[in-house]
Amino acid sequence: MNSHRKVIIIGSGPAGHTAAIYAGRANLAPLMFEGEMAGGIAAGGQLTTTTEVENFPGFPTGISGPELMMAMRAQSEHCQTEILTKTVDSVDLSVRPFKVTVENTTYTADTLIIATGATAKRMGIAGESEYWQKGISACAVCDGALPIFRNKALAVIGGGDSACEEASFLTKFASKVYLVVRRHELRASKTMQDRVLANPKIEILWNTDPIAAKGENLLTHLSVQSNKTNEQRDLEVAGLFYAIGHIPNTAFLNGQLKTDETGYILTEPGTTNTSVPGVFAAGDVQDKKYRQAITSAGTGCMAALDAEHFLT
Ligand code: FAD
Ligand code: NDP
Repeated sequence: MNSHRKVIIIGSGPAGHTAAIYAGRANLAPLMFEGEMAGGIAAGGQLTTTTEVENFPGFPTGISGPELMMAMRAQSEHCQTEILTKTVDSVDLSVRPFKVTVENTTYTADTLIIATGATAKRMGIAGESEYWQKGISACAVCDGALPIFRNKALAVIGGGDSACEEASFLTKFASKVYLVVRRHELRASKTMQDRVLANPKIEILWNTDPIAAKGENLLTHLSVQSNKTNEQRDLEVAGLFYAIGHIPNTAFLNGQLKTDETGYILTEPGTTNTSVPGVFAAGDVQDKKYRQAITSAGTGCMAALDAEHFLT
């Protein structure tokens, strides 16, 4: 195969596939490395780990996450993208063309689109894998409106802006929301804290650690323990939402692109330009605020257009 390309796309979520569709239609014959369980996530990205996606436009009654990603992959191929099910080990951005190393093979590219996403942190408590997506989720905005959570008590873990935002959001559907915080204070901004503290549907459990998820087919209880008194109790909850942060999948870049202090790639506002000309970043790997399929797809489109512009 041709090991030199005008565009190589790394990552295969909505950002990578949208970039592929646009780059393919611009006759750039992109090559995509879709990853092989990179960061523990199947090719197709985070949406392959969920059930119904109800907020991606074009599907009036929703679509399953895996089905949506299969359709995007088929569309990328239809638009002349070559897709390899391999994980990129490293890149060399100090040379032109850029080098991309995969299992001891080196590919070269005039432009690179980094769309490797981010991975929601998990806690590893007892019962977590059993009830993952059967009551446990890492995305309240995505899953909160599902019927299994309506008018039920729910729990959110974390004390940052995400946890506060998600707890507030969930009160639209839930009868009550427990916010389980490991310290005696919130990390979130003052505005977010005030919003949570003023919401009568939210009860904050301070100095509390979750220890086990329990249920039958679906989650029914969360065991928590005070880290002050060691007292344990079972909360009757239908949903458990982790909001303890994400890890952007940027380790393979080995510090060659500027990132913020938590590893998210920095892009020039209003563009997908990174600190290295010719390298573009799209999707969750450069966005710790919105983290949605549609925003990822939007920046994937921008990255392909930015790459096309760079090449001309
Ligand atoms: P990702 O989807 O994270 O995909 C990146 C891909 O790149 C992964 O497959 C990864 O394995 C691969 N990769 C990583 N490193 C490498 C490497 N070195 N080489 C090759 N490949 C690599 N959003 C919504 O809008 N609606 C929803 O209903 C919704 N539900 C969600 C439910 C869950 C459980 C989760 C976790 C998220 C949900 N989201 C939802 C958020 C949405 O999934 C993300 O915002 C979106 O998938 C981000 O897309 P992305 O293209 O940036 O990357
Ligand atoms: P953060 O890293 O800010 O917060 C993570 C929270 O989870 C912290 O309270 C942390 O506790 C807690 N936590 C981490 N690990 C564990 C664990 N193992 N057990 C229990 N609790 C744990 O992540 P966020 O996703 O909240 O925010 C990321 C960034 O995005 C921030 O910069 C935030 O400001 C920004 N953001 C902004 C929003 C907005 O402006 N609307 C909305 C959402 C995010 P501890 O405090 O003890 O470390």
